[in-house]
Amino acid sequence: MDSLLWGIDLGGTKIEIALCDPAKPAEALLRRRCDTSAHLGYDQILARISSLVAEAEEISGFHRPALIGIGTPGAVDPATGELKNSNTTCLNGRPLRQNLAEILGCEITMANDANCFTLAEARWGAGKGEDLVLGLILGTGVGGGICIGGRVINGLHGIAGEWGHNPIPGEDQPCYCGRRGCVETVLAGPSLQRFYRESGGEDLKLPAIYQRAVEGEDLANQTLVRLREKFAQAIAAVINILDPDAIVIGGGVGNIPLLYEQPTREAILQHLFNSELKTQILRPLLGDSAGVFGAALLSAQRD
Ligand SMILES: [Zn+2]
Repeated sequence: MDSLLWGIDLGGTKIEIALCDPAKPAEALLRRRCDTSAHLGYDQILARISSLVAEAEEISGFHRPALIGIGTPGAVDPATGELKNSNTTCLNGRPLRQNLAEILGCEITMANDANCFTLAEARWGAGKGEDLVLGLILGTGVGGGICIGGRVINGLHGIAGEWGHNPIPGEDQPCYCGRRGCVETVLAGPSLQRFYRESGGEDLKLPAIYQRAVEGEDLANQTLVRLREKFAQAIAAVINILDPDAIVIGGGVGNIPLLYEQPTREAILQHLFNSELKTQILRPLLGDSAGVFGAALLSAQRD
């Protein structure tokens, strides 16, 4: 069956393959996974992917298609397929797309995990039916992707949607990227935890801070107010440029309910070049499957 979409989610701890039938959105005909075992090195990762594809062929009875989609953390250079900024550091600077194409004997299309998340949620998840969908990852890092008319946009440098390293006016915390005051230094989970801790709180994870806010603790509430106000400021700048129909928020910070509540919409409006905000702000629907489904959907779009 040539119409099956094959996608591989290459993560820091696991590699997963899914075979999807485009006629059955958000379902997989087959899913298999294995450990990445990144400590064993680059060649070992290539070998594991090759084994996974062979295994999928054997179990499903289908031959590998002419094009397989791969999603992975980090930035993918659209011209070379080389990775940078991946937390699986042995992949950085390696011609992953080319090497996989040689080993697997098929073409490879690649995108980072935020783009795969966005593509999957836009086509098969919370943003289904919307034209312009902005996907946000708000977790240990902050990333994003843009999907227009069912196609994820890579951009000339492969950085389309990367709002996490826009500066927030008035913020000055150094960022790993070498700049200061990036959105990620304020809105990432560890950044919010740092704010709580450095303001006199205990060393708590964000869900625990959220629980304390629910129980009425003042400092925990201040941390969430900071999340709301800074998120509003940062995302209004992106809405002014893209004017999306829907925004879908993934990652651990995306589980905080206040992001979807009316006070956050009012806070965004204060920074928006418009008198009303009609953009839907949505929770994702696909959970952990978004990465591998997005990778599969990549194989249905050619740049
Ligand atoms: Zn940065």
